[in-house]
Parts: sequence; C-alpha cells; structure tokens
Amino acid sequence: MLIDSFTGLLDAAQQCPSPNHDERPSDCLPELIVIHNISLPPGKFNGDYISQLFTNTLDREEHPFFAEICHLKVASHLLIRRTGEIIQYVPFHLRAFHAGISVYRGRSRCNDFSIGIELEGTDFTPFTEEQYQQLTAVIQVLCLNYPSLSLHHITGHQHIAPERKTDPGPFFDWARLSLDLGVALPADATVTEFNELSLKC
Ligand SMILES: [Zn+2]
Repeated sequence: MLIDSFTGLLDAAQQCPSPNHDERPSDCLPELIVIHNISLPPGKFNGDYISQLFTNTLDREEHPFFAEICHLKVASHLLIRRTGEIIQYVPFHLRAFHAGISVYRGRSRCNDFSIGIELEGTDFTPFTEEQYQQLTAVIQVLCLNYPSLSLHHITGHQHIAPERKTDPGPFFDWARLSLDLGVALPADATVTEFNELSLKC
C-alpha cells in the first residue's frame, strides 16, 4: 500500500472524488486521524449510498432518511467497506468535511488538521476482520507519508464531538487497534467520559 505524496492518493483505494473539501488553512498539516462509522440507510451495508452522499448525488426519494441528509456537504478522506475495500474521496493533504464542530485536546475545528476514515458499520455491530486489517495498514502508511501524523494522535468522532456523535461506537475495538499499532488508543478519551466514569465510581 502506497501514497503518492504529490497527489495525496492511496494506490490501494478506488478513487471516488468528492467536491466536499477545500484547502487546509496555510499553517495546518494533517496531525490527527479520526475514525468514524457510517451506513446508509442506517444499518444496511454494501450499497452505493455512502459514495452518493459524499458526492452530493444521493436521491432523497430512495429512502425516508435520505431526505434528512441529502443536503449535507460532507465527505471523509477514506471509507473502508465491510469487505476491506477502500474508497478515497479526498486527497489527504486537503481538508475533507468529516468532523464538523469538534475539539481535540483543546484545539477546535478538527477538519483543519485531521484525516477522516469511515468504517462501514454502525454503533450496534462488530466491525470485520478485513476492516481492522485495512485500517491498521492505512494508518501505518499514512504515518510513514505524513510525518506530522502520529500513532499517538488517533481518536474517534465520538471523542472529539461527544455532545453530537457516537461513532465509531461501542463495537469498535480500540484494544485491538492499540495492539495492532503498539500504542494506547483512543488518544483522546474525553474529559466528559472521564467525569462520567468518576461519577459512576
Ligand atoms: Zn462520524
């Protein structure tokens, strides 16, 4: 698996360019990896609807839920499907619109300095072996190609937007990813979560 550092594209990915990106601010490099989950319609796998959402071509008539989301201008850099197939929507050096209002270690606007990776899945289902293998390989190649990234700065959407987001959710196996990469993850268990834990004790 290789990244072309000029184009910011991953050779192992099918390319599906999304308009939902722009330039990163001039002083921003990719410094954070954010893991998400998505399925469209929710809980259904293997369709083309995620790519349609990310390319602004989702048909609102095809499912009641699509009418609620088809106006969104969103995309991650990558999607890893249940089969392990990887789709790239945005070159890594550009800013994809995946995190929304978010804060990582006191720093807001995570899109400015992050790379977003969606796993096809839900908050209620385990992810596949193929997804973990591809995710690990992708993270390793990203960190090799972008020295501003670090294995110590990998987090979940739920950790940087805890009021709004729950993904990648309770079925994402952080312990497995930690073991595969040799670091303790997620890097940013939030103060909110920590307080909740403390209150329960
Ligand atoms: Zn998300």
